[in-house]
Amino acid sequence: MTVAVVLFTSDLRLHDHPPLHAALRAADEVVPLFVRDPAVHAAGFDVPNRAAFLADCLADLDASLRERGGRLVVRSGPVAREVRAVAAACGAAEVHLAAGVTGFAQRREERLRTRLAADGVALHVHDGVVTALAPGRVTPNGSDHFAVFTAYHRRWSRERLREPLPAPETVRVPAAATGEEPPSRARTADVSPGLATGGETAGRERFAAWARTDLARYADLHDDPAGDATSRLSPYLHFGALSPAELVHRARARGGIGPETFVRQLCWRDFHHQILAVRPEASRQDYRSRGDQWRGEEEAAGDIAAWQEGRTGYPLVDAGMRQLRHEGWMHNRARLVTASFLTKTLYVDWRIGARHFLRHLVDGDIVNNQLNWQWVAGTGTDSRPHRVLNPVLQGRRYDPDGAYVRRWVPELAGVEGGAVHEPWRLPDDRRAVLRYPEPVIGLAEGLARFREARGRR
Ligand code: FAD
Repeated sequence: MTVAVVLFTSDLRLHDHPPLHAALRAADEVVPLFVRDPAVHAAGFDVPNRAAFLADCLADLDASLRERGGRLVVRSGPVAREVRAVAAACGAAEVHLAAGVTGFAQRREERLRTRLAADGVALHVHDGVVTALAPGRVTPNGSDHFAVFTAYHRRWSRERLREPLPAPETVRVPAAATGEEPPSRARTADVSPGLATGGETAGRERFAAWARTDLARYADLHDDPAGDATSRLSPYLHFGALSPAELVHRARARGGIGPETFVRQLCWRDFHHQILAVRPEASRQDYRSRGDQWRGEEEAAGDIAAWQEGRTGYPLVDAGMRQLRHEGWMHNRARLVTASFLTKTLYVDWRIGARHFLRHLVDGDIVNNQLNWQWVAGTGTDSRPHRVLNPVLQGRRYDPDGAYVRRWVPELAGVEGGAVHEPWRLPDDRRAVLRYPEPVIGLAEGLARFREARGRR
């Protein structure tokens, strides 16, 4: 009887899972293993919203494996130690794992490689599982990664993606593979009240339902925060409950501008992965330094608190920040505006904003969060690094009727139409009863400080 271990990390699904597929081909029995590594906790990654969503993903994975005659083996402890223990107990000759790109994932892979080699167990690392196209699969002449999205997108679009793999019909797990109860969402405290349900089943249902209603119109609707017509698949992609390669295939099969625009967004995800894979330090350091002397935690404490709590006095910014707290998710347009406001209007270090987002976002991941923050802060890959988004103009353009603001800022619920974006223009007696804060800073003042800091007038 041959045995293989599949170590699940950010790939919590059965459909289109190359490591599982390879293990089932190679061995009679397979251990689907998830390790709750204290290093993840120490690194601050297991915040309540993601812990709850992860619990859903693990419960769903376990249920799907049980339908196929198997089960998920969950263990707690340092990942290399647990994998070795399971492999030894079951006599496994090989371990399969999806390649990750963060420094954390790369170090984990390295540790597993050396420790398993000492036991005579082979480690097989599979590319193109957490992204549609493996990082490094396409590179420009003379560099190890693309630094310009449009060039990457052009090249990426020409690549043939592998055909999605079906979910296995049966999985036989050796009796010697022992574990513990998977974590439960019910036992996770401080979860956002509007948090989505996690898991591959919920993710596949979400895609199917959304593709029926909004995918064809995605190009027109994706920048409308009130319309809320984007896929909301980001947390499922973050945990690998959905396969990005499969989503590309399924969207392309429908054809048209909506699906192609959606596929382009998935390409942004791959774009950031291929950068961080070779520049893992970009999760902390400026990808391109502009010589900024950012305001830090102490100097800007009041402004940072107002931003985090959604009390800046700029309605679109406050709406986004309150959606983040309530749902553990924020519409992309609001993410752009809130991040620009913090880094440029308030001139606060992007790392402070990125940390706050990571504390609450259910889709919060080092790759997309840090590199999007850098993009907005002008230290990343934006070709217009000095642009500043004006929250009033952004509100008038993307939330012209003000419905998004009224949904998330109840103090302004009685203000009609686009006037909601400039409450300071309302008559004094009206403002007096709103109990909505005055702006923390004038936009012109913020712009002048930023331009001066960047040496541009
Ligand atoms: P859709 O519009 O339906 O897009 C489909 C998918 O494409 C998304 O689920 C996502 O996986 C991918 N995608 C879309 N836009 C981007 C982008 N700009 N960069 C990378 N991938 C993208 N996304 C995360 O997944 N995790 C994060 O931690 C994260 N932090 C962000 C922080 C800031 C400051 C900004 C400006 C953006 C951030 N994004 C992040 C990107 C984007 O806002 C979200 O992916 C998107 O809003 C998720 O909603 P959706 O699934 O409905 O997206």
